[in-house]
Amino acid sequence: MQVVRTIEELKGDVGHASAFIPTMGALHAGHISLVQRARQECSRVCVSIFVNPLQFGPNEDYEKYPRTEEADLKLLEKAGTDIVWLPSVEDIYGENNVILNDDMIYANPDLADRLCGLNRPGHFDGVCTVVKKLLDAVKPDRAYFGEKDYQQLMIIREMVDRLKIPVEIIGCPILREPDGLAMSSRNRYLSADERKIAAMLYQVILSEAKNPIVAAQKLESLGFQVDYLEEHWNRLFVAARLGSTRLIDNIELSC
Ligand code: AMP
Repeated sequence: MQVVRTIEELKGDVGHASAFIPTMGALHAGHISLVQRARQECSRVCVSIFVNPLQFGPNEDYEKYPRTEEADLKLLEKAGTDIVWLPSVEDIYGENNVILNDDMIYANPDLADRLCGLNRPGHFDGVCTVVKKLLDAVKPDRAYFGEKDYQQLMIIREMVDRLKIPVEIIGCPILREPDGLAMSSRNRYLSADERKIAAMLYQVILSEAKNPIVAAQKLESLGFQVDYLEEHWNRLFVAARLGSTRLIDNIELSC
């Protein structure tokens, strides 16, 4: 496994990987399921780890977002990753970290102005901007994204289509803990008590899929603060806070 840091190293030595999985690190089995899928379908697999400041709001967890580089590299090596790219903020946004309006890639408002886009203004513009930069550098044939962030997946697909970026976007199913909690880097913020309650997020949307209002009431009575619980694209989406941790999940609705 090659570990590269600067964009020059990436271009010089290992550009043109065929599969690409962008991540923010603090890797878990959900991320690794994307690597495994890519491994099956492509001959070379590149994973990036970059906590993108541009997609965090001023009161969000950018500073405290978990950074576990050593453990991440071990997991990626074991999963058969060929190239890990660990750019710095300067590598992505330049020495002075100045982002001009013209450098931004904006998410399509038809997709972004709902669900997480309402609670996290500018978040998906930050995601689109960084994903475009990463795709331009790696030039993969395929890029893998989790349905855990389903709205993000839709927005990336639309961006790639609109900007005619020559890459195939592959959506991958949500990997869950045995009790149903969707795996997430942010789950480690949960206290032991919160962790037990967190599993109910999935249980409740599954059992009350046809009654979102009842589902929201149940979640609130369990101690969640529900940001949204809504149906879009034939799926039920939920975001809810437990203490200071914000959890998201979604399920497909049967016809
Ligand atoms: P992140 O590091 O949170 O930016 O996630 C990197 C990629 O992994 C994104 O495409 C996520 O949707 C995906 N991902 C995160 N958690 C899961 C999960 N539990 N199952 C499947 N994919 C996931």
